[in-house]
Amino acid sequence: MNIFYYDIAVSIPLRQCFTYKFDTKIKKGTRVAVPFGKRVLVGVIVRNIQKPDALDSKSTIKSILNIQDSETVFEKPLFDSIIWASEYYQHPIGEVFNTFIPTELRKVDKKTIKPIGGHSEYTVKESDKKFELTLDQESAVKKLSKVKTFSPSLLYGVTGSGKTEVYLRLAEQCLKEDKSLLILVPEINLTPQLFSRFEDRFNGDIGLYHSRQTSVRRLKTWLKAKFGEIRIVIGTRSSVLMPLKNIGLIIIDEEHDQSFRQSEGFKFSARDLAIKRSQLENIPIVLGSATPSLQTLKLVREKKFTQVDILSRVDGRKPPKLITLDINNSPLTGGMALETIDAIEATIKKGNQVLVFINRRGFAPLFECGGCGWIADCHACDTNLVFHQSRDRLICHRCESAYKVTSNCPKCSSRDLHMHGAGTERVEEVLENTFIDTPVIRVDQDSTKKVGAMEAIVEKIHSSDSAILVGTQMLAKGHDFPKVTLSVILNADNGLVSPEINALEKLSQLLIQVSGRAGRNNNLAKVIIQTRYPDDINLNEIKSGDYLSFASQSLDKNFKMNHPPFSSICLLRCSSPTQKSNSVFLEKTIKILSNKPGVSAIGPLPSLISKSKGNYRHHVYIQATKKTFLNKVLKFLVIEFDKWPESKKVKWSFDIDPVDIN
Ligand code: ADP
Ligand code: ZN
Ligand code: ZN
Repeated sequence: MNIFYYDIAVSIPLRQCFTYKFDTKIKKGTRVAVPFGKRVLVGVIVRNIQKPDALDSKSTIKSILNIQDSETVFEKPLFDSIIWASEYYQHPIGEVFNTFIPTELRKVDKKTIKPIGGHSEYTVKESDKKFELTLDQESAVKKLSKVKTFSPSLLYGVTGSGKTEVYLRLAEQCLKEDKSLLILVPEINLTPQLFSRFEDRFNGDIGLYHSRQTSVRRLKTWLKAKFGEIRIVIGTRSSVLMPLKNIGLIIIDEEHDQSFRQSEGFKFSARDLAIKRSQLENIPIVLGSATPSLQTLKLVREKKFTQVDILSRVDGRKPPKLITLDINNSPLTGGMALETIDAIEATIKKGNQVLVFINRRGFAPLFECGGCGWIADCHACDTNLVFHQSRDRLICHRCESAYKVTSNCPKCSSRDLHMHGAGTERVEEVLENTFIDTPVIRVDQDSTKKVGAMEAIVEKIHSSDSAILVGTQMLAKGHDFPKVTLSVILNADNGLVSPEINALEKLSQLLIQVSGRAGRNNNLAKVIIQTRYPDDINLNEIKSGDYLSFASQSLDKNFKMNHPPFSSICLLRCSSPTQKSNSVFLEKTIKILSNKPGVSAIGPLPSLISKSKGNYRHHVYIQATKKTFLNKVLKFLVIEFDKWPESKKVKWSFDIDPVDIN
């Protein structure tokens, strides 16, 4: 009898495969059930190996229990994408596989991989093409549809230039060629809008895939895609490796968006992984944005990406003016200066809508004692509690713990307790009291929690006449609000003085994106930016509204200073119940990195939120001139850490190409 040996990826947090044997040949990428300790787990065949000579006696190698399906989970390009991701992000391979295998398929003997039945035929509803393409759109479609192999394109289209219409035309082309396509959006909240645009345009089923669906629903879409029963899938980052049959195109909408980055567990960028996938599949990929990431613009400079422009808005109008408002000598009510309130009033009097952006949810971010200066903070995290009026609780935005509001200071018993600052709830309240007859619509994590809530809100915004929208980032992304003619940004200064990674890039994107929500039908639209730094050079540059010129200057600066995207960075993050364990572990790391060429390490530093859920958090910032150097060094570190007793006392992880130091 023949015996075959396999390396198998099992979903556990170890950076290795496990060897099992079986009496038949199994294709790599196939799911199998294996005994693991006392449990039976699902694993994926990674490779067929020679009989391991170190483990000579057959008894030490366990046998695979059974093969789960006749089909593989992932065929070659996807399989290789997973291997690449595990290597690039230095993350345990079993967990990487698990990230992309639908939940239902991670269980033993539950579901198998087979067709659902029912092929969708796709035809175009010509009646949905209500307008002529603009010249820019037409030439973009022409250029992009010529590309048939791996060759990334940046579709740079100012907000309101009609990028979605370009996507629809590219999709049409792709379907006509009997191919399938994947469209990625950064947030679940953006899926309904895009989904309905595609439904309006095409007969045939459009797949949707995101984490707010049931696992059974997700499995169905996944299987239908795999067997070619549906050929269009719209999804968030978890769908980046959707196994579409005969895939011909990937589109990434709002490619600059940080939400493509998963920051918990397996930390990866769906944007970057999508690019890798398109390379391995040898298919075109289109990255759309009005505010492209510096990373993308660098690749355009290097001629690795092609830039295609849509420079005019569909209505031919100019983008709104950005105006700064110096608030150094203005009293603020609910975070708003008097001039701001006046501008809001003037706008709604004309029957138009106003968008008020504030980057903080809740009512008041500080709950403070006037007697002794005590500030309410979370017991488990290094964060101040935010008062949420709707729940009448103080909430930790880190761990979501809710605390009762006390009437006496816990430190000095004084009853002199105050709330300070403003969040969305407070802005909402002030506006409601000021403009009694105008609907005030709040859009934040709290108001959109329930299934369908965001759709209802968007519907309400579209059906209202004059209205005031108050919201966080959620409101700034991708939506089309034609009646908004004034946008107000209450706390842009956070971005100007922030120690965060790429803070200015994020701020410039935010300001341009917020301004893009406004004035799609109005020449007089404007954006007011409240600031205490009216003379700030960067702010004034961004204010000019020319994002590409600002981004280009930022790129030059980063190049001179050897910052990303011109160097590669990794945050070695570490957390433990004591600060000492962190520093001992990280100091030792710094020491062994000190003599590595091409690599520098800074730290240990406390993370921006230095304590979370009871654990202290620190990091070391590792920078290398090349990705390959960085990768080598991290591999070396993994081997070292395995040997160190110091690493057993902490939880460590690599955050490669990080987007924040939170
Ligand atoms: P973007 O994503 O570039 O900000 P959208 O794709 O959301 O812009 O398009 C904005 C609006 O313009 C949509 O309502 C869309 O239906 C409309 N639109 C797109 N192309 C045209 C066109 N060629 N003529 C008129 N309206 C258009
Ligand atoms: Zn007190
Ligand atoms: Zn907390």
